[in-house]
Amino acid sequence: MAGLLDGKVALITGASTGIGRATAQVFAREGAKVAVADVNVEGAEETVRLIKDAGGDAIFIQTDVSQAADTEAMVKTVVETYGRLDCAFNNAGIEGDFVPTPDYPEATWDRVIGINLKGVWLSMKAEIQQMLSQGGGAIVNTASVAGLQGIAAGSAYVAAKHGVVGLTKTAALEYAKAGIRVNAVCPGAVDTPMLKRAFEKVPEMAEGIGAAEPVGRLAQPSEIGEAVAWLCSEAASFVTGHPMAVDGGYVAQ
Ligand code: NAD
Repeated sequence: MAGLLDGKVALITGASTGIGRATAQVFAREGAKVAVADVNVEGAEETVRLIKDAGGDAIFIQTDVSQAADTEAMVKTVVETYGRLDCAFNNAGIEGDFVPTPDYPEATWDRVIGINLKGVWLSMKAEIQQMLSQGGGAIVNTASVAGLQGIAAGSAYVAAKHGVVGLTKTAALEYAKAGIRVNAVCPGAVDTPMLKRAFEKVPEMAEGIGAAEPVGRLAQPSEIGEAVAWLCSEAASFVTGHPMAVDGGYVAQ
């Protein structure tokens, strides 16, 4: 049976672990060649190895998404290696601190906005230029349920993720007629290293967070990856500008 992404060239940022790695594996299973971009060399090389061991095709590109020179070089390397760029999943992110708004450290604020919001813009900037030159493509950005509603003590993260939703809608409108679809996924609580770090920073968060999802459990990273693969595929050809909640019903409450 043909894969959902057969013959596509995909780029995934933040793919050394968590949602990004699982999505890279889903994309490879569905027939895409996958460029794995991350600051974490060891983890990203392991993602590439896992894909190759399963019979897929992948490369690693060392990238800090908060740096324009890196995101430009990232897209250039994808095109030099695979000839084009069909799908991009802008997923790299950090959780930041968990403190009330007036106490939020300015340095953390800058870092969270720099990676989670500016990093998505810089990545899209380079990806859209390439996609325009080849006549189309599909982009998915990782927002969060924190891009759809507030979370106390998460000001920079929530602001960045709301920004990602706005950026997604704006780019979708700008390039709808050019054959470039731009969507976002808004995951609920996903069992990843980021969530574990958040639990260490705020132990009371760990109590009952899975139960707070209407489905009564945390998501597995691959459950987000399956939604991203669909959004990037031809099956979603009329879907653009959509922040899709993949959250076990959390924002429906
Ligand atoms: P994670 O910490 O497991 O993975 C994040 C990845 O981003 C890592 O591979 C890390 O090395 C990479 N990264 C960090 N800074 C980077 C930079 N400057 N340049 C390139 N790569 C960088 O986290 P995750 O839970 O898999 O999160 C992935 C995305 O999903 C993030 O954008 C996060 O905000 C979002 N998200 C996560 C959850 C959750 O519950 N885990 C929920 C909603 C949204």
